[in-house]
Amino acid sequence: MVRALEISIAHILGADSSYIDCQSFEVPVHRSIIEDVSSLKSAAERAGFELGLASGYRSYERQLSIWNAKATGRRNLHGDSGELLDINQMSPEQVLFAILRWSALPGASRHHWGTDFDVYDASALGAEQSLQLTIEECEGPFKAFYDWLDDYLALPSCAFFRPYCLDSGGVAREPWHLSHKKIAAFYEKKLNLDMLKESLQDSSCELKEVALRNLEKIFKNYVLVSKDL
Ligand SMILES: [Zn+2]
Repeated sequence: MVRALEISIAHILGADSSYIDCQSFEVPVHRSIIEDVSSLKSAAERAGFELGLASGYRSYERQLSIWNAKATGRRNLHGDSGELLDINQMSPEQVLFAILRWSALPGASRHHWGTDFDVYDASALGAEQSLQLTIEECEGPFKAFYDWLDDYLALPSCAFFRPYCLDSGGVAREPWHLSHKKIAAFYEKKLNLDMLKESLQDSSCELKEVALRNLEKIFKNYVLVSKDL
């Protein structure tokens, strides 16, 4: 199945969802990872958790609308410690890099591939609580679950890894974000700077000019997370 994948540019940039399955789980994912996600859910269940998927495949259009809402102040923008930022007090470049800590540039999100998704323990979420996906949650109500996940991901047979497990100054640490090792590698290898540049030039992305000026840095620090690929 892996060999048969023919990945078009539109696929990589989130503009083609023909490989995406919307039936199997609570969020859409790449059809090549259904079996592995099922195994992950079953393993969590055996360990006493209810593994919920919070976010799977996300289209280019959706990422663009999240990005533009943050860039124009219609959606909250947070600093490194979760504090609310005031974009009116910031330069366009500061806004750009503040967004990139938590949200990918449209066309450069791993969620475009359907190979990446966010997980949490649905059984530890109170009825009144809404999911935030923050480090506080990971160290609070979901701690036992993420501790179990650490061990599970360390198994050589595990199909997934955490692309954002360390904060190296680019994307912030996201222990909830998992990626399918084999299938995501196909997309990550094919994604390149020119592709991103072209799609950005033609888009209605806010902060486009600043992003284009900084594209090499963005690509190196915020897009290519798997240094061994
Ligand atoms: Zn994610």
